[in-house]
Amino acid sequence: MRKKIVAGNWKMNKNFQEGIDIANELVKDFNPSDSNKKLVVCPPFIHLSALAELFDKSEIGLGAQNCHTSGKGAFTGEISSEMLKSVHTQYCLVGHSERRAFFFEDNEELYQKCKQLLVKEIQPIFCCGELLEDRKEGEHFDVIEDQLEVLWKLSKTDFEKVVIAYEPVWAIGTGETATAEQAQEIHAFIRSQVAEKMGETIAENTSILYGGSCKASNAAELFSKPDVDGGLIGGAALKAEDFLGIYNAL
Ligand code: PEP
Repeated sequence: MRKKIVAGNWKMNKNFQEGIDIANELVKDFNPSDSNKKLVVCPPFIHLSALAELFDKSEIGLGAQNCHTSGKGAFTGEISSEMLKSVHTQYCLVGHSERRAFFFEDNEELYQKCKQLLVKEIQPIFCCGELLEDRKEGEHFDVIEDQLEVLWKLSKTDFEKVVIAYEPVWAIGTGETATAEQAQEIHAFIRSQVAEKMGETIAENTSILYGGSCKASNAAELFSKPDVDGGLIGGAALKAEDFLGIYNAL
């Protein structure tokens, strides 16, 4: 059975102490309802080591927001998958729309990042999603199909570790959520693409998360759809109570 996941992306928010405070609140109040439902926190790099310790005895998973395409070397300011692994990181975002837009990450780079992570047994959370213009032009399926090309270059064994997050860019941080029907339509499309490239069984086992202004008040409706296996959460992951409210809707 595929995993249900609620993952929080803190982006460039929370100084060290603020991060510790929210992590402590999560540890205190998190009540894992079922071993198939995961809660994951993706903080900035400075928090990873401390949060790994805090989460050690809890069921909360730890994710990073980025890693470099190379294993090591002269890449000032970057971080490798090996470094992430050394502080017990289990997941890492790849291809978030902000990285695509501000850091010009393309399919080849995203593929190399996935490979680096998978070698270290870190699960990529691969983000895809269309711009508002794409949707207005009716090109959203084509855009997603193109973004997913990255994943078809992986072996089946590698692909099975990947979590996919559908995040329509027009819904990220805007307060405008995709309707549950819009999310379901794209998630079903993504699953059909996985089935075509990787086979039915792998498609059935792939977790596909929705991201874009998801909050406790709309999560239950989104998560009720058959192909929506949880959420990737930005703003609402910055308060423990709001974030756990979303998890409780799984
Ligand atoms: C995100 O950045 O991945 C995201 C989903 O943000 P928000 O929930 O704030 O829209």
